[in-house]
Amino acid sequence: MESVKQIIRDIPDFPKEGIIFKDITPLLGDPVAFQKTINSLKDRYADKPVDAVVGVEARGFIFASALAYALGTGMIMVRKPGKLPYKTFQETYSLEYGTDTVEIHQDALRSGQNIIVIDDVLATGGTLSATLDLIQKNFENINILEAVFLIELDFLKGREKLKDTPIYSMIHY
Ligand code: AMP
Repeated sequence: MESVKQIIRDIPDFPKEGIIFKDITPLLGDPVAFQKTINSLKDRYADKPVDAVVGVEARGFIFASALAYALGTGMIMVRKPGKLPYKTFQETYSLEYGTDTVEIHQDALRSGQNIIVIDDVLATGGTLSATLDLIQKNFENINILEAVFLIELDFLKGREKLKDTPIYSMIHY
């Protein structure tokens, strides 16, 4: 994954001062790096009983849909509020200032399913922790095989928020 890591671009002070934004657009635009990333995930899960890949809006959708296609599973969307058209479950979580909410369709998952949850970056862990709560509180008997990230920002210790869920990050900073 070293060659993939090289292609991720740092954008200082975006979207606000003090944040170094990990820009994955050069990776997505590079056919070799993008295919390598998805193939590596495909190899990891090919012999696991995955029923669905859950992607977190918005960049998580890119990896979730490519991986779901590669594995031959369904792809489920966890979205920001007000975007999903059918009945939803919701989970609200705290940000540095204020709150945010994630939503999922009430019929998105079925009892007994094995899933992977994927997002591009694990930073503070707030989004993924809310996503895991959203799934675990509202659906019975769902086995979260792993929470998967393209990038983990180790110094933010987001993994501590994700408690018992196994975590796999392809690239660490
Ligand atoms: P968090 O809830 O703090 O783990 O991060 C939430 C979301 O913000 C993730 O889905 C990332 O897409 C995005 N994000 C946070 N920090 C960064 C960063 N430094 N570079 C790129 N995306 C980020």
